[in-house]
Amino acid sequence: MTMSAPRTAIVTGAARGIGAATATRLAADGFAVAVVDLDETAAKATVDGFDGGPGLAVQADVSDAAAVDAAVARVAEELGAPTVLVNNAGITRDNLLFKMTESDWDAVMGVHLKGAFLMTKAVQKHMVEQQFGRVVNISSIAALGNRGQSNYSTAKVGLQGFTKTLAIELGKFGVTANCIAPGFIASEMTKATAERIGVDWEKFVEANAKQTPVQRVGEPADIANAVSFLVAEASGFVSGQVLYVAGGPVN
Ligand code: NAP
Repeated sequence: MTMSAPRTAIVTGAARGIGAATATRLAADGFAVAVVDLDETAAKATVDGFDGGPGLAVQADVSDAAAVDAAVARVAEELGAPTVLVNNAGITRDNLLFKMTESDWDAVMGVHLKGAFLMTKAVQKHMVEQQFGRVVNISSIAALGNRGQSNYSTAKVGLQGFTKTLAIELGKFGVTANCIAPGFIASEMTKATAERIGVDWEKFVEANAKQTPVQRVGEPADIANAVSFLVAEASGFVSGQVLYVAGGPVN
């Protein structure tokens, strides 16, 4: 990919999994990339693995307004005004509705929805100043409904509405906003799901691969590749979309 000038990207929850693969891919694409995560040591390891431009590890909880503002200010100061934002940080607190606690609900809304809101609000002023921006929010096929995930599926469909509204409000400033909705991706998150339901990881992967038209599960790099497309300079006419990256159609 070629860019007219190096740009600064922020990827949240990028200490591991989809976020780490995305940060690494954007660094290889030529972006200066800030890795924002709760776990600073692991965030540093992601940056150390970059085979590309400069990186910065920043410890922050995306659901904490003061921490978000401080993180974005530090990125702007040390790497340059952020004009690409990937809201990827996520957690699960799965349970059937009758067993789900209020704190399970609040924790999931706090990271996915409030986190994306706070991060985007803090970064958009840089995008508007630069008259360029790319926001990618990581949704999920769970947005279509998934047993045991009433909190998570609500947050993930909420992110789709948030994205479409951002696209409408910020389009005139050269900012696009899109969602990627991954299917099953091999990561610590899906490993934790296998453990929670008591299924062997290899068997879990095999069963999910069989149900997928391309006959495999996704890897974090599959999502990083889609992000790379959406944040590219040339993708300025793609906005307000939800791209399901799931190895087949979903409905
Ligand atoms: P993961 O391996 O669990 O990684 C999530 C990362 O987010 C972790 O590094 C975690 O930090 C970080 N994080 C959690 N809460 C945070 C907070 N409040 N502030 C900052 N960072 C925080 O998950 P993943 O599978 O890569 O998932 C990444 C995104 O894709 C999530 O939004 C997830 O919902 C979505 N997704 C995943 C799948 C899948 O199949 N894996 C499918 C659809 C959508 P700690 O390690 O310190 O907790």
